Amino acid sequence: MTPLEAELRRIIAADGPMSVATYMGLCLGHPVHGYYMTRDPFGRAGDFITAPEISQMFGELIGLWAAAVWQAMGAPAQFALVELGPGRGTLMVDALRAARVVPAFASSVQVHLVETSPTLQRRQQESLTALKVPIAWHPAFAAVPSGPLIVIANEFFDALPVHQAVKTPSGWHERMVGLGPDGKLAFALHPDPIPEFASVVPEAIASATAGAVYEWRSGEVAADLARRVAEHGGAALMIDYGHSESALGETLQAVGRHGFADPLASPGEVDLTAHVDFAVLARTAREVGARVHGPISQGDFLRRLGIEARAAGLRAKAAAVQAADIDAALARLTGSGRESMGELFKAMAFADPKLGALPGFDG
Ligand code: SAH
Repeated sequence: MTPLEAELRRIIAADGPMSVATYMGLCLGHPVHGYYMTRDPFGRAGDFITAPEISQMFGELIGLWAAAVWQAMGAPAQFALVELGPGRGTLMVDALRAARVVPAFASSVQVHLVETSPTLQRRQQESLTALKVPIAWHPAFAAVPSGPLIVIANEFFDALPVHQAVKTPSGWHERMVGLGPDGKLAFALHPDPIPEFASVVPEAIASATAGAVYEWRSGEVAADLARRVAEHGGAALMIDYGHSESALGETLQAVGRHGFADPLASPGEVDLTAHVDFAVLARTAREVGARVHGPISQGDFLRRLGIEARAAGLRAKAAAVQAADIDAALARLTGSGRESMGELFKAMAFADPKLGALPGFDG
């Protein structure tokens, strides 16, 4: 049994079952035993690999995107470049290097990294110390000072706790994590239906047949981001895996060193994620006055930002072995097969409506 499982069993024995969202939040973010609190899971030797770890091209294109957005904002003399969940800091390093083509951007930028994990904060410090820009760390987005801002969030929302509800003949019941007859962690349904649930979910979801599962997250961070860009100027770019329209179905998954795992086995030692519902994010942002761009596929977004030309430029300078790596990275980031991220991952932005068209989204 993992140390976190022992603690979860104690909590449940004392307080009763917890929601799937509470369980996920503790698995990833428990201050001592949480998955991200204790390790650096990224990269080829880790549990999984993310787009910025696949190729420098990803962060570079996002850096150029940010520089173009900054120009569209009227080139403010001071602005915050915020990253939510920066992992190893790789994306930010690549982005700032590429954005040096716009020297005034580099002299106006203040970097704000939002990261809950002390282990990853240290990792980010190591990656970013050589850069000559002011950098501050915050445990939550709400702590980032107000003012014009550009926000980047790659594979951040998929790590935020997800709730699950199951449709039964007596209504929608929240799925909980409790203890089975053998004392092990087990899924169970809350005995009472969620009040008024059918009135807050899309109609196609509300009328689902018994057994259907619906997942949702708190909209707090999304609303906060959208409100900030609408009020202070700027844009927030989110790239994540998920669906463009709200849908039924269970997507909570656990990934460890050996591939997919049972989400209730080895809590704290495997990553937990669930698909991002871009339709809900978009609705949340529009409600508070931001303009929504996308979602479009990651493949389309990167192609429109010029990834093919960037790959050709790198290939021209590379030895044969490296050229093959560049081609493989391009295919992985933009391709549509099951092993690739180009279709499964989506890009979406919230922006100040005054900005108009955004690179990558509107041509
Ligand atoms: N963007 C990085 C890492 C993605 S993994 C990349 O693409 O490689 C998710 C990241 O979000 C990790 O850095 C994790 O520690 C952080 N994180 C997860 N939940 C968080 C929360 N609630 N607040 C701040 N950071 C969080």
